Amino acid sequence: MKKETIAVHGSHLKDETAGAIAAPVFLTTTFERALDGTYPKGHMYSRNSNPNRTALEKGLAALEGASRGFAFGSGLAAVNAVFQCLQSGDHILMPEVGYYASYKLAEEILGPWGLEVTQVDMTDLAAVEKAVQKNTKLIWAETPANPMLSITDIKGLSEIAKKHGLKLGVDNTLGTPVLQNPISLGADIVMHATTKYIGGHSDIMGGAVLLKEDDEWAKRIERVQILMGATPNPLDCYLLARGLKTLPLRMREHSANALELAKRLEKHPKVELVHYPGLESHPQHALAKKQMPQGFSGMIALQVKTGETETREMAGKLQIFQQATSLGGVESLVEHRKSIEGPQSTTPGNLLRFSIGLEHVDDLWADLNQALNSI
Ligand SMILES: *Cc1c(COP(=O)(O)O)cnc(C)c1O
Repeated sequence: MKKETIAVHGSHLKDETAGAIAAPVFLTTTFERALDGTYPKGHMYSRNSNPNRTALEKGLAALEGASRGFAFGSGLAAVNAVFQCLQSGDHILMPEVGYYASYKLAEEILGPWGLEVTQVDMTDLAAVEKAVQKNTKLIWAETPANPMLSITDIKGLSEIAKKHGLKLGVDNTLGTPVLQNPISLGADIVMHATTKYIGGHSDIMGGAVLLKEDDEWAKRIERVQILMGATPNPLDCYLLARGLKTLPLRMREHSANALELAKRLEKHPKVELVHYPGLESHPQHALAKKQMPQGFSGMIALQVKTGETETREMAGKLQIFQQATSLGGVESLVEHRKSIEGPQSTTPGNLLRFSIGLEHVDDLWADLNQALNSI
């Protein structure tokens, strides 16, 4: 079946009580035990499993072409579950450009427990292969990657991973399961911050791990999910499963809006550079087209022909775009990355990152245009 159909039906939860078409929400912590000590409906306690979580995990796995899916209370909890499959003394390769907190988790929290991590330029396959050590167990990639929307060759990485007997994990938050499927490109593990596009309305924190094989790593992640306890609540799982149903439709529109705005921005005299994988001027456009044939998602980074102070002022002049971190919601957001990342940041001061929402493209353009013309 096609993505749209899987999105609507993949997380279906049949209501045995009333025949409701929409899934009931199982706001329960615990489930009834039979006299013989078994759990006839398959659930015992909601940290172990809950029908809404199971339905969400099933739907996500179906969309990613995965054997197993595990949902968590945040994207970072999902990243942590993958890293917990490693032992003290193991080594991970992580991208130089990627979600900052994922790296901090490996370095600051798991480092003292003996996990080794090296950052490498993942867009350079030769550099990745050179960075593989004897104790390397996992390559962790992210594509497209913030804030410059750089693209990493998943298939190329998977060949390196196979050659050296490593697992390849991909943070597919920006790609989403409808625009990009890392497993079909050779990845073993896919992670999502469901907080972003899958929730899609800026009202849920969540994460997920999807695995190609139901193997030792799946068993371990299941144990981490249960024993570390960073599980999502049933209502959030219900809302995320609902989000999945409109995800293909939303991603089409996020992508179309972003592509159109990127094209218009590129022609604006006040613009220095537009970073968007859908533009032919993007250095990795050909690779992006191969990995994301349906669209390039809704994130744009823009460098304006002015200094840092004026760039920040420009963000303040926007009327529709709200200044906030995060991405993937129906409402458009703008963020000055350098000032968020702090003094060690290598992000240019004249860069603004946009999460393009589902407003009409002409209204978004008018807003960007007036702000650009004001500087
Ligand atoms: C937001 C995000 C995360 C972390 O997700 P949280 O839900 O905030 O923990 C990880 N990776 C990427 C690419 C993200 O955008």
